[in-house]
Amino acid sequence: MPATTIAAKASPRAMAEGSRVGAMEGPGGSESSSFTPSCYSAPGERKVCVHPWCTMGTEMGEPRQTILHADLDAFYVSVELRRRPELKGKPVVVGGSGERGVVAAASYEARAYGVYSAMSSVVARRRCPQAVFLNGDHALYAEASKGLHEIFARYTPIIEPIALDEAFLDVTGSAKLHGNGPTIAHRIRREVRCELDLGCSVGVAPTKFIAKLASEAAKPIASTSGPLPGRGVVVVQDHDVLAFLHPHPVKAVWGVGPATLKRLTALGISTVGELAAVPVDALVASLGDSLGHHLHELSNGRDARNVESTSKMKSIGHEETFSADIYDRPELDSQLVRMTDAVGSRLRKHGSAAKTVQIKLRYGDFTTLTRSVTLAQPTDLTHEILAAAQMLLAREEVSTGIRLLGVSVTGLSAEHHRQLSLDDLSGASWQEATSAVDAIRERFGSEAIAPGSALTVDGVSIKRKGAQQWGPSQ
Ligand SMILES: [Mg+2]
Repeated sequence: MPATTIAAKASPRAMAEGSRVGAMEGPGGSESSSFTPSCYSAPGERKVCVHPWCTMGTEMGEPRQTILHADLDAFYVSVELRRRPELKGKPVVVGGSGERGVVAAASYEARAYGVYSAMSSVVARRRCPQAVFLNGDHALYAEASKGLHEIFARYTPIIEPIALDEAFLDVTGSAKLHGNGPTIAHRIRREVRCELDLGCSVGVAPTKFIAKLASEAAKPIASTSGPLPGRGVVVVQDHDVLAFLHPHPVKAVWGVGPATLKRLTALGISTVGELAAVPVDALVASLGDSLGHHLHELSNGRDARNVESTSKMKSIGHEETFSADIYDRPELDSQLVRMTDAVGSRLRKHGSAAKTVQIKLRYGDFTTLTRSVTLAQPTDLTHEILAAAQMLLAREEVSTGIRLLGVSVTGLSAEHHRQLSLDDLSGASWQEATSAVDAIRERFGSEAIAPGSALTVDGVSIKRKGAQQWGPSQ
């Protein structure tokens, strides 16, 4: 089914300016709103319009944001069910099916048996022995994600991706072109269903925090006989924010982890409303300056964070849990070469250079350590990242057995200016060799060329993004 709207080509500024026009289309059709005193309510000190389609707040110099949080329902499982429709209605788990696997996603039928993501696959099997386990297929999910983000981009250029299946959208400036927040939310849901055959829940609110809670409130509900349909779209208007927020359990607030939850529980605080009622000084005294103020603001419905469309990638890495612990150093070295090859390749594709190289080791007894080194200058060359990673690995004891190995780069920058070294002047440089490898892969696929140590009896073994990320299947 074709898309029902035309992609927005306007610049963010032009779209924001569009929001200053007072006539907007409401959910029920075309509705004109002009500035009249009856148009306003005054909850607290802020004057805001009670009509969701009215943007007169902007006219008054009080920007009223409309933020959407869109999140696909049981994403990995739903994508798998498109090609395995015979599994619809059954408990399905995507993740590592082996002894060491973890659950990446569970269908609503499996959730009804207490199976959740990040749980060990062994526990999941115990809770729901009849569940069908599927190994994750990152490439397939990435493709679905691309389609999803293309739908988002029809409505606003201000999109903050949170995960493959989740994003914040600032649609404040999109009203003139596409309708108000609820209208856009319903359109996105419809297009995701029609074009991608996936379910999507959307929260509409004046802040990111409330939009995220609203999308959760819109989700289907797990039951052993299949998901009970959720509301799909939940809209929280300015004047409803506190009534919506305050009954939530306090752990719903961003920044409340297990340690903070324990402290708040000890203080007798169990709901967001109770947290909001605590004087800020008392919170600061108990939780520290930064967390105290943060929780006070959020629990009172204030969240100044904007939707950041230029969300910068902070790190690029690859890690893998092995099907059996590795005791052999040459074998680990060879794994490191392959992982670093994948990391370097992604780094260059992203057009970045990295300043810091880190390795991660997990031993058989689950002891985990990370070691990092900062380079003299940022690099995007695989052999330089590898040299640093090898140096870090060489310092660590591996004879007790390694369960997981990872390599990652951080301190990413978009531009880097290499200083020429003597090596660069002596014939063909590493940079040229690396560019040649990238060009060959671009044209013939990632398995067309690889480091010598990636050769196995079965051919070239290349690390793919997301491969083995939930543990081995054996
Ligand atoms: Mg999701």
